[in-house]
Amino acid sequence: MSKGIKEIPKLTVDALLTENRVFKPSAEFTKQANVKNDSLHKKAAKDRLAFWAECAEKLDWFKPWDKVLEWKVPFSKWFVGGKLNASFNCLDRHIKAGLGNKTAIFWEGEPAGEQKIISYDEAYKQVNKLANVFKSLGIKKGDRVAIYMPMIPEAAYAMLACSRIGAIHTVVFGGFSADALRERMNDAQAKLLITADGGYRRGKVLPLKDIADEAVAGAPTIKHVLVVKRAKNNITMHEKRDLWYHELMGKAKDFCEPEHMDAEDVLFILYTSGTTGKPKGIIHTTGGYLTGVTNTMQWVFDLKSKDVFWCTADVGWVTGHSYFVYGPMANAATQVMYEGTPDFPERNRFWKIIEKYKVTIFYTAPTAIRAFMKWGTKWVEDCKLTSLRLLGSVGEPINPEAWIWYHLNIGKQKCPIVDTWWQTETGCILIAPLPGITATKPGSATKPLPGIETVVLDDDGKEIKEGGGILAIKSPWPSMLRGIWRDPERYKKTYWSRWPNTYFPGDGAKKDEDGYLWLLGRVDDIMLVAGHNISTMEVESALVDNPIVAESAVVGITDELKGQAIAAFVILKEGNNPSEESQNILKAHVVKKIGAIARPEKIIFTPELPKTRSGKIMRRLLRDIAEGRALGDVTTLADASVVESLKSKYEDKEG
Ligand code: ATP
Ligand code: MG
Repeated sequence: MSKGIKEIPKLTVDALLTENRVFKPSAEFTKQANVKNDSLHKKAAKDRLAFWAECAEKLDWFKPWDKVLEWKVPFSKWFVGGKLNASFNCLDRHIKAGLGNKTAIFWEGEPAGEQKIISYDEAYKQVNKLANVFKSLGIKKGDRVAIYMPMIPEAAYAMLACSRIGAIHTVVFGGFSADALRERMNDAQAKLLITADGGYRRGKVLPLKDIADEAVAGAPTIKHVLVVKRAKNNITMHEKRDLWYHELMGKAKDFCEPEHMDAEDVLFILYTSGTTGKPKGIIHTTGGYLTGVTNTMQWVFDLKSKDVFWCTADVGWVTGHSYFVYGPMANAATQVMYEGTPDFPERNRFWKIIEKYKVTIFYTAPTAIRAFMKWGTKWVEDCKLTSLRLLGSVGEPINPEAWIWYHLNIGKQKCPIVDTWWQTETGCILIAPLPGITATKPGSATKPLPGIETVVLDDDGKEIKEGGGILAIKSPWPSMLRGIWRDPERYKKTYWSRWPNTYFPGDGAKKDEDGYLWLLGRVDDIMLVAGHNISTMEVESALVDNPIVAESAVVGITDELKGQAIAAFVILKEGNNPSEESQNILKAHVVKKIGAIARPEKIIFTPELPKTRSGKIMRRLLRDIAEGRALGDVTTLADASVVESLKSKYEDKEG
């Protein structure tokens, strides 16, 4: 990102694509909604700090705070002097309220027939025991614990057990390589690693412990590796260093006193996905973070006690932290946790899970939705999705056509869709519809949530009331990052050096005549074509608008005449063949949707796109390919063979 700042074009962004469809909330939905009117917005507008204080009161505090906010730009402290514990808020208080029997997690393993139903009582017991195990291994308040796990309940227990004793967790996605794991453990100086022998992914066992061994060999701060037996694959246990989870849990006591944490004590460090460059260790603290996730869970997802919530994100991403572990559990939600991929054993696995557990709220990413579009509706048709009442999207801008597909085929035209914009850095959702009151427009994350003050600015910091520019946040919010681990300078430079006193998230946005926000993708990806700043998002959405296209990624390539020309990488829906004719059709389609300025110079058909392990398109690698450069940092890439084959295909054509 710090590298990216220099590359940002010095202009506003041209907003070219228009989308006129509007979906109003049904009277029926509004009637039952948690947020039925604009009273939250009014409260927040009247007195923002009093509003956030009221939000924080939904948590259980051991000691109330003395001051809501201390703001010394760019460092904020929220609920100063308050004491609380995250695991207490996610477990103990629900048990005290008589919810011990309530299902916390319906866990579904990837192999057929594997499931576990875990109550709040059970989760409480496991977390307490594990907290005692951590203590027995010498882990104390403030120590860092790395978590490298498959999607099994023990991953959530590990996070909550850390928070119970005040240890700082850093979860590393279970699909990352040994290098990526080692780099993160070393940066965080973690003392303990908790992992599993293996986990299931698309029918195969991913040998996590072997990868962890390779990583730990170069991570001198790690004293112990705690290993959950999951896949029963063969592993090597290193004497003294490695310990079996079940053996220590078998001996551990059932209760561990929750540590009274300061509101500003660090809850976790999480490294960003690494879409734009070297991952940053984002720091979140306890009181403000929990306030953000607990409230947005109620507002945006309209969560009720009877709901079955399913967020498909892995615990390794911020979405898994905020909307699988902390947000839902602080609200005593019942949730689904699924270990594997959506296409195993068949491409209808997600829909089968929704049918089986009667999921009511489903939250996934555009990358998944575009894969479903590519596979076709036949996989959805024979599954009963009638339990669904609300759908969500996160991770990338959602193309309007993908939104409509989701609305028709999954929501069956009756479920509101919440397109939620946020980042690892923001901790919780900041821009999203409130499903009972906000009319949605496909592709727009709509408006900021109450208490969040966003603006669209040009490069000089001048506000753009209507049109394209750069998204900015004018004032601090409780769940904002508190810094980058061991790198305060990078924190200042990355987020606070662009405009005075204003947070720079790094995304382009346009504001329409109704004040709706349309996220235009990363500022670093914006193309400068013949004097126009064109967002990758708009050209991609115009391509996806054509019925033969499932997904696309566009990049700007150097062009002598125009400065940059547009190269589009396109994945066709199954049953369509790449041809020169379809290239011409697609070029003409973009011209029709947006205008001649956005006509792609080149269209390259491909079966796959380079994506991060969190499923986001890595356009910077496509730029490297298109410009014949050596590939940049590829450590967070999901499948290296995709870029290699694209590269040779591209070079063949050029050559
Ligand atoms: P890195 O910062 O390391 O490059 P990353 O930005 O992909 O990685 P995350 O914090 O997981 O890491 O992703 C946040 C980004 O994802 C946002 O800044 C935005 O670009 C994109 N994003 C997330 N949700 C949405 C959404 N609903 N609409 C548009 N963009 C979104
Ligand atoms: Mg980012």
